[in-house]
Amino acid sequence: MFINGRWITTQNTFAVTNPATGEVIGQMAEGDRSHAVDAIEAAATALPDWSASTAYQRAAILLKAHQLMIASKQSLAELMTREQGKPLKAALNEVQYAADFLLWFAEESKRVYGETIPSARADQRFIVRYQPVGVVAAITPWNYPISMLTRKLAPALAAGCTVVLKPAEATPLCAKAVFEILEQAGLPAGVANLITVSDPTDIGHEFCTNPKVKKITFTGSTAVGRKIAQQAAAQVKRVSMELGGHAPFIVFDDADPVHAAKGASLVKFLNTGQACISPNRIFVQRKILEPFIHTLVARVNAMNAGNGLDPANSIGPLVNEAAVAKVERQVNDAVDKGAALHCGGQRLNQGDLSNGHFYAPTVLSSVDEDMLIYREETFGPVAAIIPFDTYDEVIERANDTNYGLAAYVYTQNLSTAMRAFEALNFGIIGINDINPTSAAAPFGGMNESGLGREGAREGLQEYLETKLGGFSIA
Ligand code: NAD
Repeated sequence: MFINGRWITTQNTFAVTNPATGEVIGQMAEGDRSHAVDAIEAAATALPDWSASTAYQRAAILLKAHQLMIASKQSLAELMTREQGKPLKAALNEVQYAADFLLWFAEESKRVYGETIPSARADQRFIVRYQPVGVVAAITPWNYPISMLTRKLAPALAAGCTVVLKPAEATPLCAKAVFEILEQAGLPAGVANLITVSDPTDIGHEFCTNPKVKKITFTGSTAVGRKIAQQAAAQVKRVSMELGGHAPFIVFDDADPVHAAKGASLVKFLNTGQACISPNRIFVQRKILEPFIHTLVARVNAMNAGNGLDPANSIGPLVNEAAVAKVERQVNDAVDKGAALHCGGQRLNQGDLSNGHFYAPTVLSSVDEDMLIYREETFGPVAAIIPFDTYDEVIERANDTNYGLAAYVYTQNLSTAMRAFEALNFGIIGINDINPTSAAAPFGGMNESGLGREGAREGLQEYLETKLGGFSIA
């Protein structure tokens, strides 16, 4: 762990395993609540100086961290593949995406402008300034174990906040590597602190109840996010919540079904389906159902599952046995209730894969409302295809979910594209585009997919308080 500028070890440790091989790849310090207290104290002590530093000073450190991250891209990506499982090419992309946040917020930190507002009174002036919210507690998931950290750390530090971060128990080695970079970049002691732990409950409780923590930023499941937001409400702490999703992927019959199916195969199986913006319901207009399924199945049949360090493999393992069991349950339930299974549909546990958590990339069609997969987030390599007939029908069905993170629309018709963009209740909408994400663009969900946005100007605003000055000059 990294507390107050020092690396801390503990007698107790927990093992970190490679989900592709079951091999133990490292031991991590087992923190407890007292470490969280110390880290929050360190962050609170570092706050006055850090928040009083100039944006130019903070930007220089973030820029240095960006350069260091780019320089160690290959080794970070290899570590990520071993710890999290995604294929090396995807890991390299993630490190680039993670570094993008450091650069973008280094630049944006210099643009926290205030405002003057005309008053109705001749003797009054209004001035608005933005100031850092204070100590931030951050909790991050395992599926994007480097970029989800910089997406929080970069704007928080740019704004002048100090941070205590707890990464997911499955991927603490990637988190440690990020903090080594921050240390090398010259971040002062106490400004960013890392706590690792195998059971997060006590640390989460300390984050929510310690009055020195002014904001909690969380990325993870809706179930846990809801709990944290409830706990944080007792002290009316600010919260940002990046939670689960159940993205619809809508293909209208004026779209090229082959192009759309290629897009679906890329985004659905990205990170083995373990992405919050992964399509969970693929709605295809009936007229083009056959060519769409044909292309998707051909592409999925060509995918190889295995260790992500081998460039022949584009499907990595799932994070653990529970994730495999969940996918298996959803697929079996769909097939029992009448879905057609085109490929996959089973665990992969032969030969080299026997000690990993693999499930075959799967395509189901004739999926309907009665099946678990229609409502539950899958977080696995299963493409669930649902036929539809009309525009009104598909928009209503797409919006019929408690989630509201990402949605995708394929159409050649500009009016259909614009109408769907406006009608879909999701925070991120890809129109003929499977990657509507960037450090410069606001990322976040509506409804039970979360509160607040990360990336972009909005991402910085999440770490700033608005202060109004009313000046009487009478
Ligand atoms: P999770 O909710 O199980 O865990 C997320 C984090 O919360 C981990 O660090 C975990 O240790 C911690 N945690 C769990 N219980 C806690 C508690 N009681 N107190 C404090 N911390 C606790 O989620 P996960 O399985 O790691 O991640 C997958 C989920 O994250 C999916 O639902 C996915 O959609 C979502 N996700 C969302 C986004 C987004 O930007 N919206 C991005 C990535 C992942």
